[in-house]
Amino acid sequence: PIRNLLRTPKFLEYVNDGAFRGSVEIKSPADDHTRLSIRIVPYGEHQHLLLAQDVTERHRLERVRKDFVANVSHELRTPLTVISGFIENLRHDESGCAERWERALGLMGQQSARMQRIVEDLLLLASLEGTQGLTPRETVEVREMLEEIVEECEAMDSADGVPRLSLSAEPVRVLGNIHQLRSAFTNLVTNAIKYTPAGGSISVRWFTDARGGVLEVTDTGEGVAAEHLPRLTERFYRVDAGRSREKGGTGLGLAIVKHVLQNHGARLEMESEVGKGSCFRCVFPDCRLAPVAPVPARADASNIPGT
Ligand code: ADP
Repeated sequence: PIRNLLRTPKFLEYVNDGAFRGSVEIKSPADDHTRLSIRIVPYGEHQHLLLAQDVTERHRLERVRKDFVANVSHELRTPLTVISGFIENLRHDESGCAERWERALGLMGQQSARMQRIVEDLLLLASLEGTQGLTPRETVEVREMLEEIVEECEAMDSADGVPRLSLSAEPVRVLGNIHQLRSAFTNLVTNAIKYTPAGGSISVRWFTDARGGVLEVTDTGEGVAAEHLPRLTERFYRVDAGRSREKGGTGLGLAIVKHVLQNHGARLEMESEVGKGSCFRCVFPDCRLAPVAPVPARADASNIPGT
């Protein structure tokens, strides 16, 4: 039996699941440096065909790409901090320089802040890729986290005004990584704010249903045409790059959301209609929800001193 020959847990999970969805990548049992991509497909009646492909080179190139992006982002961090610091100093300079250079310094400040946001997002994406497949297992109080996110977003300083925000959340907790989840949820809420005019509204809901735990961010904003939806989670894919930049976007927010959800065994669903609004939904399977703490029994009033 194949299970006796290939004992890697990832492979066993793939075989035991029986659905043979996609392929699975494992180290070769014969050589630790070789990576194999294995795929099983139905073949005739009661038979299956196992295809094993050597993907060592593809894997190496992918690692080179990831390391390169992470290193470049890391190297850019310090020079950008220095440049932004000096721009800030010059803007508050008393010698008259700031007045003459006001417009230029303002633009330089904006652009360097934008570069810093891109670098931070790229570093976050690199670290998310590094933790892929790991099982982050802290218990995260999603309701508390959403309350904080909504409060921070309401206080956002926006020239156009912030749309109305409403929150309803069940006390359901998730097993996961608190920093990753905070960053994903913040991205969804800030996107809704960026792409919804001041008069519009945004609703954030956290609930459970037959699908598992669902975080839903719905807005009445500008919406996205159907042909763009499948590409929104690609890095730097923007429906309108100029508009995204003007709103302080990096083009990396939804890529971060997708990676965080992948790390949590969750999926992202999107629905949108141009001119009507959008709905972004994160669906966490039941196995990712922390058991609800039992409600403490009500204290008997006669036992409480002073009553
Ligand atoms: P950005 O930093 O540009 O917002 P994202 O990766 O977060 O990058 O989003 C990618 C693109 O998806 C955005 O540029 C925008 O065109 C579109 N988008 C994301 N969220 C929304 C939304 N709530 N309403 C309309 N468009 C959205």
